Amino acid sequence: MNPLRKPILAANWKMHKTIAEAASFAADLQEQIGPLTDREAVIAPPFTAMDAVSRALKLEGYSASAQNCHWEVKGAFTGEISTVMLKDLGCRYVLVGHSERRHIFGETDEMIRAKTAAVFAHGMLPIVCVGELLVERDAGRTSDIVAKQVDKALEGLDSALAEKVVLAYEPVWAIGTGRTATPAQAQEVHAFIRTRLESLFNKEVANRVRILYGGSVKPDNVDALMAEADLDGMLVGGASLEVASFRRIVQFKS
Ligand code: PEP
Repeated sequence: MNPLRKPILAANWKMHKTIAEAASFAADLQEQIGPLTDREAVIAPPFTAMDAVSRALKLEGYSASAQNCHWEVKGAFTGEISTVMLKDLGCRYVLVGHSERRHIFGETDEMIRAKTAAVFAHGMLPIVCVGELLVERDAGRTSDIVAKQVDKALEGLDSALAEKVVLAYEPVWAIGTGRTATPAQAQEVHAFIRTRLESLFNKEVANRVRILYGGSVKPDNVDALMAEADLDGMLVGGASLEVASFRRIVQFKS
């Protein structure tokens, strides 16, 4: 663990759990683990359960994240939720540009840049997701794709904000597929992203930005992934839906 970067273990529940299920998960997780000081646990429930989850997360080291937001503060955007509303609900983080948003809902790099700026504008922290498709990896384009996504998402930020960004490297071929990147594959891309941050901003920003890995993280691979120097946490989908499994991920050993 790098002392400049407190690890984040984040649960992305996607379109799962009722309000009651979400609230009891949040209570059970805290009861089983207790307060956290050397790492953060973050839960990203569906919007419907956000209020219940943010009220239930009472202990030090636990916070709520949204899975998405709109970039405008208000207006005629049927079905959308703004960052002001998310702040109101007690969110600390907002996932931006998850691969399901990019590839199922057609989000562009420009939308993701605007969302990132909106999250900061309302006092929350973006968790910006980047990652290549399998065809892009096979064509040797991973660095190009990831660099473009990082560059665009962070465009216009000054260093003071940039160092607060959380990035999540999630190779699309590893999400929900059971096919995890090896620790070495993940480390290679994380190190590349850190170098990119140094050239976009400076060494201090690069050293402070937390870069999470996501893609089929499970209790049995988390320790090996977290042992890599540039992996500062995990963004977890499927294995975050059961308390026992997410608890083990939060309690990774490095
Ligand atoms: C995700 O949704 O961000 C994710 C990484 O999912 P999974 O852990 O199920 O691959």
